[in-house]
Amino acid sequence: MSEEAPKIKLIMELRRRGITDQRVLGAMERVPRELFVPHLFSDQAFDDTALPIDCGQTISQPFVVAYMTQMLAVGDRMKVLEIGTGSGYQTAILAALSRRTYTIERYRPLMIDAERRFKELKISNITTRVGDGLKGWPEQAPFDRIIITAAAEEWPVEICNQLKIGGLMIMPIGKTSTDQKLVRIERTEEDFDVTDLIPVRFVPLVEGVAREN
Ligand code: SAH
Repeated sequence: MSEEAPKIKLIMELRRRGITDQRVLGAMERVPRELFVPHLFSDQAFDDTALPIDCGQTISQPFVVAYMTQMLAVGDRMKVLEIGTGSGYQTAILAALSRRTYTIERYRPLMIDAERRFKELKISNITTRVGDGLKGWPEQAPFDRIIITAAAEEWPVEICNQLKIGGLMIMPIGKTSTDQKLVRIERTEEDFDVTDLIPVRFVPLVEGVAREN
């Protein structure tokens, strides 16, 4: 098989599963997922599965990244907030589609690795912060788009309030790891309109910055 074959197969699989947005498919084709997975798993970089990363976290499944990005409808002039940088793969996809992406991670070692990858790929429109994503990023609010890539048990009010009117947010919500769904939230003049999407399985959104050890 040629080196490109697993990637082409993955893109075809994404199309088959309903990813039709050419900008999203283009970004998934351009961002080298093999740089975001641990070396041990590089031969699985283009399998449609989540994989373990450091600090007991996971890099999301490519279909879920593509689906969330498509549902978020990111425009090239938009300011995006991501909570849960992890490997930085989803961040790199968002950066390819937006004006600037702000991303927060509670584990410093994960952020150091992600920043190294952004530098290596010469991506210059990402701003990072090690911190508690549950607080959002008030100094940079409001955002056109917000994406949370860890599952909340409760409605994250502080984050929702940092969304622009007319803005969209997408996140997994659920009390247990086996009972989570993605929801899309649109902020209207008076309220938030919530649409249920697909069942998913994400690591939990945890309060506070992770302790250094
Ligand atoms: N999109 C990432 C997913 C990483 S998993 C990727 O594909 O690589 C989710 C990440 O959210 C984990 O790295 C976890 O540490 C982080 N996280 C959980 N709670 C958080 C919080 N309160 N603030 C910031 N990051 C958080």
